[in-house]
Amino acid sequence: MTIDKFNFAGKKAIVRVDFNVPLNEEGKITDDTRIRGALPTLKKILADGGALIIMSHMGKPKGKVNAKYSLSQIVDAVAAALGTPVQFAPDCAKAQEAAAALKPGEVLLLENLRFYPEEEGKPVGIEKEDPAYEDAKKAMKASQKEFAKTLASYADCYVMDAFGTAHRKHASTAVIADYFDADHKMLGYLMEKEVQAVDNVLKDIKRPFTAIMGGSKVSSKIEIIENLLSKVDNLIIAGGMTYTFTKAMGGKIGISICEDDKLDLALDLIKKAKEKGVNLVLAVDAKIADAFSNDANTQFCAVDEIPDGWEGLDIGPKTEEIFANVIKESKTILWNGPTGVFEFENFTHGSRTVGEAIVEATKNGAFSLVGGGDSVACVNKFGLASGVSYVSTGGGALLEAIEGKVLPGIAAINE
Ligand code: AMP
Repeated sequence: MTIDKFNFAGKKAIVRVDFNVPLNEEGKITDDTRIRGALPTLKKILADGGALIIMSHMGKPKGKVNAKYSLSQIVDAVAAALGTPVQFAPDCAKAQEAAAALKPGEVLLLENLRFYPEEEGKPVGIEKEDPAYEDAKKAMKASQKEFAKTLASYADCYVMDAFGTAHRKHASTAVIADYFDADHKMLGYLMEKEVQAVDNVLKDIKRPFTAIMGGSKVSSKIEIIENLLSKVDNLIIAGGMTYTFTKAMGGKIGISICEDDKLDLALDLIKKAKEKGVNLVLAVDAKIADAFSNDANTQFCAVDEIPDGWEGLDIGPKTEEIFANVIKESKTILWNGPTGVFEFENFTHGSRTVGEAIVEATKNGAFSLVGGGDSVACVNKFGLASGVSYVSTGGGALLEAIEGKVLPGIAAINE
């Protein structure tokens, strides 16, 4: 079924959205891209005369109730975005009554799905090495099905619109689809749009294709970096990952973030890039600080000559120029992850420069795709969102889709 064809009048729809929005210390939303992204689907359901049950995760509460990740914090923002009151179900697995009482046009937001370990379906409190692990996994899969069935019981139809988590086979993103027939489950508008944007890139890659991979750790991005090597012409490595590469090549990185167990991996990536003829672009200088703070003392230095007690928190001016030049000559651009600790005002310059170069390349005809919570927050912070071709709500999901993988959230609907 497609959402456009479905008439929600008199129906209760349970919609998986990705409202994993960044919050500041006071619990205020700092970037509402993901809420805005889901509005077309949510509004269509209400406009048709349907009742809406919204479910999402937030953060990584690891299967436990944690007020820091409560979706109660975003009820008012969702209500404002929808222009209608939003009821809140404080326990997502005990919302039967609230769901049953919903009338057409009414909205119920469920508490964070990940307060239950069943959402992710990973056994808790047991290590993979434990002989009892396999049994625990089986038991968890069974209770995951029960959990998904409970969520499904609230509604007549299911809409999957959480692109940001579509690469996960979780209770609410995939397993739940088993409890609806093909005529009562569908992708939402955001999913359709995101899939289209990825298709636009993959169908006909205009070259040079440049990927800019930033963020904190190599370990979380290793697989995608490897896969990108067979697709891109230029691979720019930025952010905290830089220092694992620099150290691996024998450089001095002071107290910069580094994954010592990934040094060989970094060298291996450098070798693979060479073999595949990919231009791997690494930083040559850094903006360094004597503390992990916006108020730290700073200076610029060569990326491999960082003094003891100092750490690289952004790229330096020479690197900015190198990155910007590569970007400006590109015809397809994928950006995931900031070049530095952009949350601190004094370390935003590199990310801003990269964002501006992408906008310029886009003006000159490039197709640019920005994805991942932090890079999206960057383009929004710098007012550049309208200058890029497409801002995705997905990070990992976008990257996996670009790799050509079938996302479980999509497979569950189409099967
Ligand atoms: P990720 O979630 O892996 O995309 O990483 C995003 C995070 O990486 C942001 O919160 C940045 O503050 C952080 N980051 C980027 N550059 C650095 C750096 N040089 N040192 C420490 N953290 C960094």
